[in-house]
Amino acid sequence: MEWVYTQPVKIVFGSGSFSGINDLLSEYNRPLIVCQPFFIERGIAGDLRGDVFSQVSENPDVSEVNACSEIIRKNGNDVIIAVGGGSTIDLAKAASVAVEDISEYHGTGKPLPKEHLPLIAVPTTSGTGSEVTCVSVLTDRRTGKKAPLLSESFYAETAVIDPLLTLTVPQRVTAATGMDVLCHAVEGYWSKGHQPVTDALALHAASLVLEWLTKAFENGNNTQSREKMAEASVIAGLAFNIPKTTGVHACSFPLTSIYGIPHGEACALTLDGFILINSDNTRTKEISRRLGFASPAEFAQKVVSLKREMNLLTNLKKFNLSQDDLTELVKKCRHPNMLNNPVDVTDDMLYELFGNMI
Ligand code: NAD
Repeated sequence: MEWVYTQPVKIVFGSGSFSGINDLLSEYNRPLIVCQPFFIERGIAGDLRGDVFSQVSENPDVSEVNACSEIIRKNGNDVIIAVGGGSTIDLAKAASVAVEDISEYHGTGKPLPKEHLPLIAVPTTSGTGSEVTCVSVLTDRRTGKKAPLLSESFYAETAVIDPLLTLTVPQRVTAATGMDVLCHAVEGYWSKGHQPVTDALALHAASLVLEWLTKAFENGNNTQSREKMAEASVIAGLAFNIPKTTGVHACSFPLTSIYGIPHGEACALTLDGFILINSDNTRTKEISRRLGFASPAEFAQKVVSLKREMNLLTNLKKFNLSQDDLTELVKKCRHPNMLNNPVDVTDDMLYELFGNMI
């Protein structure tokens, strides 16, 4: 097996590390802080020096990226600091290339410019790992499309991971984002693009989630479980960045864009189903065994009980899907990430997966 592993992002991890941010900014003239109003109101990003862009919604829209890029071009900002969840960091990454209209690049394969502003990424959820990936997931609400953009330009200069910033994450978001971490680790492990370094990262991250997620869910003020989940999140980001995600993430995009299911919850919805779809695959058997399960079926059962324990969706009943809705959903799951799945996924498999949920 031949492989290449690169990881260009400097990672600074530790409770309290956010307080060193102004030092990182000292070499720049005009920073732009990208964050949701919550972080200004709570005084978290309030001490940072720079202009502020706070028009950031969950599952950020291409129009928000364009608005941010326009500000950067107008102000002449020379660095971006993104403080927030995956939505905020993804918006900032896409704006860092400061193109006029990002939708020209959204799902079109058009390469993004190499020139970009340096980005300091500060995650406030333990979920996406966006601070270390070259991915920015954007939505175009005009067309209903949600899709990732990939570019070397999207790597942050520095990721500052301060687990204390996650103490305020609401319980439901803790649950969904934590399951996103598990999906990144598992998908990174069984993806066709996996390699030994990412395998090791994936196992470490998945084990941490299995040990600490429900503790963080039960008591959000517990700094140890927040710290362990923050570690799991960044390590899982590194675990999938090169191999890329697979069937679970491919299905999550329409589940979010059509039914508004939060990203991590949308991923968790099909994780156990994909463990079963992939259960004859060696990689799936191996990760199940290495995480301490007797079989993929036992691992899948654990995923279901985690979802039940944290009140996450286990089916689609509340959306009353018709047969036409099901057909549309299956069609929209055909995202390129599906091709990384270790087992070829047919439409019949997807009909069965979602048919059991309606
Ligand atoms: P998010 O950024 O959308 O945040 C979810 C909610 O939590 C928001 O309402 C936000 O205001 C709130 N929140 C965030 N941090 C908080 C805090 N510390 N205290 C209180 N509230 C807080 O959620 P997310 O799961 O982090 O990001 C999801 C987005 O990231 C999706 O668009 C998803 O597709 C994308 N994603 C990107 C990558 C990548 O590599 N770029 C990987 C996976 C997912």
